[in-house]
Amino acid sequence: TFISFEGPDGAGKTSALAAITAKIQPTLGDRLTITREPGGNPISESIRAIILDRANTDMDYRTEALLYAAARRQHIAQTILPALAADQLVLCDRYVDSSIAYQGAGRQIGEDAVAQMNTFATDGLLPDLTVYFDVPAEVGLRRIQIHRQADQVDRLDVEQEAFHDRVRAAYLRLQQAHPERIKLIDATQSPDQVVAEALALIKQTAAR
Ligand code: C5P
Ligand code: MG
Repeated sequence: TFISFEGPDGAGKTSALAAITAKIQPTLGDRLTITREPGGNPISESIRAIILDRANTDMDYRTEALLYAAARRQHIAQTILPALAADQLVLCDRYVDSSIAYQGAGRQIGEDAVAQMNTFATDGLLPDLTVYFDVPAEVGLRRIQIHRQADQVDRLDVEQEAFHDRVRAAYLRLQQAHPERIKLIDATQSPDQVVAEALALIKQTAAR
């Protein structure tokens, strides 16, 4: 079973994933693969480093989209497909919907163009379930600001609210276009509620 996690910045995806992992790791043990993209293997991590290093300076937006797709392909080949072949539950932090939302809509390259390019990269591999943590741009950005004052981790200071509005709108369009695959969770709820809803969806899908 292949499950991806998506959401705009400040949706709480990272902490929700940590809580979800803590809950299911004890029962699933080595039948669980938790991974993130871009990354998860040396090639993809190198590509990730290039993206994170240059994306906010002089990287062309199509270059960025191609690099994400290249990292995704390697991650599929080296991590996701082998895990699925071994009948693992694969939980992936971001997948192709991120590219459609961030590069397609956020960077305005075009959602269809990015989706098409990614069909080549994924060879059509889609998650059985995509958990989408939904939060309005304004709320998400406010959360990040608080977070950043505490430990200054992210690189997103330069990205503005309009960008995040476009990202969220694209996610909502994707959810409406693929309601069977993409399930929305209202991420303005309490962390406990968000995690509980995600766990219910994961269990349902893994049992299919
Ligand atoms: O998932 P995480 O919060 O670590 O993502 C970090 C950032 O990477 C995102 O907020 C986004 O700015 C960027 N990103 C992107 N395009 C993707 C995936 C991530 O721009 N396809
Ligand atoms: Mg995060």
